[in-house]
Amino acid sequence: MLTDYHLHLRPDDVEATAAEFFTPTNAARYRDAAAERGIAELGVSEHIYRFAQALGIWQHPLWREYARDDLDEYCGFVRGQTDLRLGIEADFIPGAEDRIANVLEARDFDYVVGSVHFLRDGAVDDHEYSVWDSGRSAEDIWRRYFDTIAETARSGLFDIIAHPDLVKYWSSADPARPGDPAHGHRRPHGDLRRYYEPAVEGIAESGRAVEVSTAGLRKPAGELYPAHDFLAMCVDAGVPVALSSDAHRPEDVGADYDRALEQLAELGIEELCVFSGRERRLEPIGGTSAVEPGVQR
Ligand SMILES: [Zn+2]
Ligand SMILES: [Zn+2]
Repeated sequence: MLTDYHLHLRPDDVEATAAEFFTPTNAARYRDAAAERGIAELGVSEHIYRFAQALGIWQHPLWREYARDDLDEYCGFVRGQTDLRLGIEADFIPGAEDRIANVLEARDFDYVVGSVHFLRDGAVDDHEYSVWDSGRSAEDIWRRYFDTIAETARSGLFDIIAHPDLVKYWSSADPARPGDPAHGHRRPHGDLRRYYEPAVEGIAESGRAVEVSTAGLRKPAGELYPAHDFLAMCVDAGVPVALSSDAHRPEDVGADYDRALEQLAELGIEELCVFSGRERRLEPIGGTSAVEPGVQR
């Protein structure tokens, strides 16, 4: 069985309204795209910061700009008008653990995807509030990023730790794709496992699942999240895997799953996490050949 749990029903533009995108017709487009790619288990995980309730957690200017919708209307729509699992992508904000817990526990999510997009007020993947403009070294930003991933896992607030090396967003390991060093979009040199170590330890010790996401292939990094070595360390530590595309439009549902499945197979990963009512079980991936018609694996 294949899953796609980290899905957004709309693009990240602030103009993409709930009224336009939270519709049964739009949900059906995602379901159809998934069916074409042999993905049976589907859930949506809208960004928490697009809901007014998020402002009780954090008051970042980006959140104030985006927090326009009602979280309970979203939950009611997914439950009442779609056959999708109900999830949410919630940022870990250090110090706001109780406030995050209150928002999450008051709703009947099937799973919660936990993300780190910000280090304090600076985003690792957004130009407007970029942490890369802070003057800090790539080494310092990477170290703080993976320490925060560990904290995210240990908080116990989330079921899946999303795109766990998002910090590489702007930078490529391929010297032919240097990214944009003018904006500080750089990565440390050498073996990166020294950065991954605390994060993997945090995820393993807290019993969380790690996300394998194909979204990184569509970003400047041009790699799966997480990198091969990070995932190999997760496998060694016994961390279960949740597979997602982080699609923001139906065309990207299950995007590049052939690449992800190749990586999972190479590392001996044969099962994926399936969630319901925040309970997790493992299902065999199975010998699917239905990823994309015509794709050789
Ligand atoms: Zn994210
Ligand atoms: Zn996302």
